[in-house]
This record gives sequence, structure tokens and C-alpha cells, in this order.
Amino acid sequence: MFSQNPTNFSSLEATPLTECIKLDCPLFDKYQVQVWMKLDYQNHPQIQGNKWHKLRYNLAYAKAHGYKTLLTFGGAYSNHIAATAMAAKEAGMQSIGIIRGQELAEMPEKWSHTLQTAKKNGMRFEFIDRQSYRARNTAKFLDQLRLKHPDAYLLPEGGTNLLALKGFDLLAKQIQQQCPQWTHLYCAVGTGGTLSGLVANLSQYPQNQQKKIIGVAVLKNADYLKAQIRQWLEAFNADNQTQDSIDWQLLTQYHAGGYAKTRKSLDQLGKRFQKAFKIPLEPIYNQKMLNGVYQELKQGHIPPNAKVLLLHTGGLQANES
Ligand SMILES: *Cc1c(COP(=O)(O)O)cnc(C)c1O
Repeated sequence: MFSQNPTNFSSLEATPLTECIKLDCPLFDKYQVQVWMKLDYQNHPQIQGNKWHKLRYNLAYAKAHGYKTLLTFGGAYSNHIAATAMAAKEAGMQSIGIIRGQELAEMPEKWSHTLQTAKKNGMRFEFIDRQSYRARNTAKFLDQLRLKHPDAYLLPEGGTNLLALKGFDLLAKQIQQQCPQWTHLYCAVGTGGTLSGLVANLSQYPQNQQKKIIGVAVLKNADYLKAQIRQWLEAFNADNQTQDSIDWQLLTQYHAGGYAKTRKSLDQLGKRFQKAFKIPLEPIYNQKMLNGVYQELKQGHIPPNAKVLLLHTGGLQANES
């Protein structure tokens, strides 16, 4: 269902330039590494960070093919839900969110900031119970949805599909312009779409052959994502007649108990980091990615002289919930 063939997306060729800054501190000196952070949350006030890239070509495709509505899936704290509502609003489209948790239907007072903002931006919700939600990718469920919403363009949970991967082309370009010396690139992983998009697009630069992209999974038991990421990369390469040449790795041991769970030590690290570098973080993705990098550093898994680039994927809207 998610194989699309993009045609002309000239209107979205521009993506805002976000800063890439060097982070200096005694710890990095001690391990003889240099560290930069790409502050990609700056790209859009609401559709922050990676969700912007994932939506770009999907939005253009939906508009070009006459769809009037974006329909997608998520939990009550999903950054993708917030981003889709905002993107639809800006594009003059409708949006529908299929939200996990039927109990929320009768309790708008319990809605997260994410849901409230999405609603303000015009998103209509359909709350479904957790069991039905698990069936969201089955043909039967999707066919029923299409019958009910014939003019809706369906985006999968987390917004990850082939067009989403493609949407990291301009971020890759910025990275190559701002920090071409990078040797190790780290990002947080939910569905793996961002990691796949980075591998797919950064592989197109010949000078990146010996480099490595490392994802830090924020969910428990995320090993199944490796096969999924491989599949996306194969499909992307088949579609675009490309190859992925960059080595990638998924670290699955830094989930800190599971999605949206955190630990005191992580929160302390996050606080120290924000204070030292004046960079805002959120606990669900970027704080976990950062903790993973610090642990890897302390365990000697990042070699001396490495030039480490951290991708800040945004998601700051979740801090209000
Ligand atoms: C959604 C999200 C991610 C995870 O991206 P995937 O492409 O699903 O792996 C990472 N960081 C932030 C801030 C997010 O909102």
C-alpha cells in the first residue's frame, strides 16, 4: 500500500537550514572525540525535526493526487500525530487521527497536550481500543478505513514509508555541507524510518563509504526493527536505483525500560546537557539517544579521533504534555 512513485515536488524543494554546532566539554576531550549536534528541531516550530522530512514528499504526493485528507495512526503522545495535524492545516487539507485508547473518547479532559494541539489544528479523532489498534496494518482494517474515508491519503504510524525515507535527502545535503568530516552519526529510533532515510541518502555521497550511522532504539525488544530497516533500504534502492553503502547499526540496549520510560540517571544527564549547551531536549527520544552515546563512549565503543555527529530529531512539543 505504501509504494508510491513521486513525480514533481518542486514546491517542497526548500527546507529550512538548521544549525550544526560543535559541543565542547572535558569528557569529549578525555575520550579524544569531537562532537557536533545538528539542531534539526529548528526546521519548523510545530512539525519539528524528523517528522518534517518524513511528511514533505508524502504531502506533495497527496496534494498532487487530489487527496483532501491526511489520515494516520498514533498514541496520545505521538509527535507524528501532532505533526500531521499541523502539516494538513498548512496545506489546506483535513486530517483524521486514529488514536489508540478508546477510553479517551469520553474523557477529553484527559487528553494530552499532543491531542489537544492536534485538535486545535483541525484533526478529527477516531479512538479505537488497543486490540483493534494492533490490527491497523492488516489489509482488512485498511480496506475498511478506505471505504469509510475514500478521499483520505493514509500515512502509517510514525509516518514511515518510502516517501518518508526519500524526504531525508535535503537533511543529508545540509549535513554534508555543514559537517562533512563526520565519521559516526547517531540518531534516536522509533520505527527506524529516520535511520533508514539517513543511510539511504547519505550513502549517495562517495566520501561517506567508511562512515557509520548508529540508531539508538527507544523501545524495548527493538531487534525486530533490523529486518524492517533492511527491507526499507532494499525497497528504497530498488525504487531509486541506488545502493546503500554506509555501515549502520541499531543499539537496542538503551531503551531505559521501554517507550516513554525514563530513569533518574537519564534525566540528570539530560539536565546537565541542557544547562551546559543551552540545547532543549525531550526524554522520549533525544535524551535516550544522548545517554546511548555517553554509554558507548565510556565503554570504549567510539574510537579516539572519531568525529561524532548527533542528530537532534526535535519532538519538543511532547514536553508540554
Ligand atoms: C518520531 C521520532 C523519532 C523516531 O523516528 P523514527 O523515524 O520513527 O525512527 C525520533 N525522534 C523524535 C523527536 C521523534 O518524534
